[in-house]
Amino acid sequence: GNSTIINELDASKLVFTRNLSPRAVPEPDSPEVWTQSVCTDHMLTCQWTSTSGWGVPHLQPYGPLQLMPTASVLHYATECFEGLKLYRGHDLKLRLFRPNCNTRRMLNSATRIALPAFDPDELQNLIEALVAVEGEKWLPKSRPGTFLYLRPTMIATAAALGVQKPKEALLYIIACCFPSFDTPSGTAGPGGETVQQSSKARPGLKLLASKEDTVRAWPGGFGYAKVGANYGPSLIAQGEAKARGFDQVLWLLGKNCEVTEAGASNFFVVWRTSGGKLQLVTAPLDDKVILDGVTRRSVLQLARERLGGDLEIVERKYTMSDVEVAAAEGRLLEAFAAGTAFFIAPVHSIHFRGEDLEIPMSEGSTGKYTAILKTYLMNIMYGREKDHQWSVVV
Ligand code: PMP
Repeated sequence: GNSTIINELDASKLVFTRNLSPRAVPEPDSPEVWTQSVCTDHMLTCQWTSTSGWGVPHLQPYGPLQLMPTASVLHYATECFEGLKLYRGHDLKLRLFRPNCNTRRMLNSATRIALPAFDPDELQNLIEALVAVEGEKWLPKSRPGTFLYLRPTMIATAAALGVQKPKEALLYIIACCFPSFDTPSGTAGPGGETVQQSSKARPGLKLLASKEDTVRAWPGGFGYAKVGANYGPSLIAQGEAKARGFDQVLWLLGKNCEVTEAGASNFFVVWRTSGGKLQLVTAPLDDKVILDGVTRRSVLQLARERLGGDLEIVERKYTMSDVEVAAAEGRLLEAFAAGTAFFIAPVHSIHFRGEDLEIPMSEGSTGKYTAILKTYLMNIMYGREKDHQWSVVV
């Protein structure tokens, strides 16, 4: 008989070892925050093996991991991650924004690369355990409107070069300081998203459309999963865009140049159809190409609930030629990128096949609906909108 017990991930078993040499909290937007990832004093770790399941979670001093050079993650990119924030509200409460969406997406991503399953609610409990220890120090009440970036990560650690399903894994969660999104600079943050436009006359992001030989994700692939393997190979295109004075790559797909995502953010346009209807449009989640962004989802739902009278909300395939024709006919009104790292970032131009396609942005530095949606979201995240079900007070 086999009496081995396979343990579930269980946050109630947590063991806490306090960091006895804690570091000083940097000033918001100080140079070290911009140039390196300043992490908090503690991290959460939990090991898994195929024979006994999840071990005891440890909340322990932040520090290096030990891995054998043969570890699966270092060879086969058996890694997935999440990105969410802890917000210090204007009412001085600490909040997470829809953390259940991140924990469920993490489970989907882990499953895609044969990393072990877990109860997403237990992952949320672990995230909450970390922020319970770090929140008060790293997001002082004297700094409402600030946030920490949380990065749950899972890697396959088994020391075996065989190309096979991971037999050992490590789940860890770190928290780091993050430049505030309204600081002007062209630096890329941990999510890969661009902070703000580099210095130039018009505000808003300048996007460079990807070339046909540079594909981020494809039907039936893994673009929908937040796995490291989606990001490393995008860095050449991103670096080239930066070098040419653009902020981000607009990822296109296929011969007819379907618009998918912008950098590591989802992408939206507001246009008027040739029939005169005002629409908010983003690419659909079909075909496993696009990440199911928490911000994307939230934008869509808020727009449907609150702007449905003005705007038709459409998830559909659309192409650069649709965008070009709308722009040429004066029907293209707004565009924005949407992601956790830098929320809602207005886009002012798309460089495509040698031409700059300008996006008007009705309000000067942003578009009307772009601004409304950003305000809705920020009010929920920072508690100006009371007791919204998406904000989880911790
Ligand atoms: N697309 C990609 C490829 C991303 O990496 C991200 C960042 N997680 C997003 C979109 C935006 O997702 P979210 O709103 O959940 O941050």
